[in-house]
Amino acid sequence: MNILVINAGSSSLKYQLLNPETGDLLAKGLCERIGIDGKFTYKPQVAGKETLDAIDVAMPTHSEAIQAVLDALVDAKNGVVGSMKEIDAVGHRVVHGGEKFAKSVLITDEVMAAIEECNPLAPLHNPANIIGIKACQALMPGTPMVAVFDTAFHQTMPPKAFMYALPYAYYENDKVRRYGFHGTSHKYVSGRAAAMLGKKPEELKLISCHLGNGSSIAAVDGGKSVDTSMGFTPLAGLPMGTRSGDLDAGILQYLMNKYGMNIDEMLNVLNKKSGVEGLSCVSSDFRDLESAAANGDEKAALAQEKFAYEVKKYVGAYAAAMGGVDAIIFTAGVGENDKAIRSMVCQGLEYMGVKLDETANNTRGKETVISAADSKVKVLLIPTNEELMIAQDTASIVKG
Ligand code: AMP
Repeated sequence: MNILVINAGSSSLKYQLLNPETGDLLAKGLCERIGIDGKFTYKPQVAGKETLDAIDVAMPTHSEAIQAVLDALVDAKNGVVGSMKEIDAVGHRVVHGGEKFAKSVLITDEVMAAIEECNPLAPLHNPANIIGIKACQALMPGTPMVAVFDTAFHQTMPPKAFMYALPYAYYENDKVRRYGFHGTSHKYVSGRAAAMLGKKPEELKLISCHLGNGSSIAAVDGGKSVDTSMGFTPLAGLPMGTRSGDLDAGILQYLMNKYGMNIDEMLNVLNKKSGVEGLSCVSSDFRDLESAAANGDEKAALAQEKFAYEVKKYVGAYAAAMGGVDAIIFTAGVGENDKAIRSMVCQGLEYMGVKLDETANNTRGKETVISAADSKVKVLLIPTNEELMIAQDTASIVKG
C-alpha cells in the first residue's frame, strides 16, 4: 500500500509517498512559491532515480503544484510508481479540527464543511489545508482522502486542563479553550516510546517534549494526552524560535500604549520577533545560539538557559499533573539534535528519578535511551515522523 502525504501551506506544499506498513519512503519533496512563480523539488528514494532540486515549474495555484507532484511520481524515467493506481490514498495534514475531530477521518462533503467551520480558529493554516485537499480531489477523483488533525490527539484533555479561567461564555459561545498542537508528533513518539520500553501505551505516563522551531510539551497518561503547553493558538507555552510563549497579558497593554502599536503589530512581535531570537538578539536557530554562547555571547547563553528552564518547569508540572512519569521523550529539531539543551533540561531532576547518561546523550537523530541504566525515569531520544503517522492513520481508516 502506498500513501501520499500532503502538508499544504498557503504558498508551499510538502509531500511524501510512503508505505505505511514498512515505513519505506518512496519519494519526498516540496513545492514552493505557489501563486508567485513556482519551484519544484522531488527527491526519489529509489536507487538510480534523479532528484529535481528547486526547478522552475509554473504554479499559479495548488492544482499545478499537485499535478507536478503526481507527474513526477509516475514519470516513466524517474518516477517511483507505475501509475496513479499505485497511490492508494492521500493523507492530508490539517492544523485545526476544533472540538469536532478527536481523530483522523475520511474526507466527505460533511467533513469538508466541518473543517471550514474551524477556519476562524486557524485562519493562516486551515484555509490552505482546504485548498490542498480540494486540488487533490479534483486531480485524483476516486482516491480516498483522509484528514489528520494537529489538534485531534489532545481532545482527550479533561476540562480542568483545557479550560481558561475566563468568563465561561467565551468557551460556550466562542470556543475559546486550550486545543494544543503537534498532536501527530506527540502521538507518534508516544507510540514509539512504548515500543522501545516494551510496554503497552496504557501502562505508561510520558512527557513528550517536541522541541523545534515551534515547541510544545504534552503529558500523555495511558496513551492519552491529558495536558499540553500550546493553547488556543500555537503561540502559547514554551518560548520558541521566534514566538514568545506564555507571558503576562498585561504586557500587551503596556507596550501597545507606550509604542502606539495596534494588536496586529503586537502579535507580529510576539510571533515573529520574540522567543530565543528576540532574547538572544542572535538567531532563532539553536546551532547559532550554541556557537555564539561558546564565543562568550551572554544573551545567547541566556536564551538557551531560559528555554531549557521553561522545558524543565513543564516536566515538573506534568509529572505532578499525572502523579508520576515513566519516561521523558525528546523529539523534533532541537530535541533530536541538541545534546546541550537535553542535558540542561535534565540537570537537577535527579530528585524525581531522572539520571541522564551523558555518554549516551552524545548522539543525535536516532532512537536511543539516553538515561543511565539505574535511572528510575527513562529519557528517550526519538526522531519524530509525522508523515509516517499520517500515512498509518490514513491506511487504517481506508482499510476500515
Ligand atoms: P524543526 O522545527 O523540528 O524542524 O526544528 C528546527 C530547529 O531545530 C532549527 O531551527 C534549529 O534550532 C534546531 N536544530 C536543527 N539541527 C540542530 C543541531 N544539529 N543542533 C541544535 N539544534 C538544531
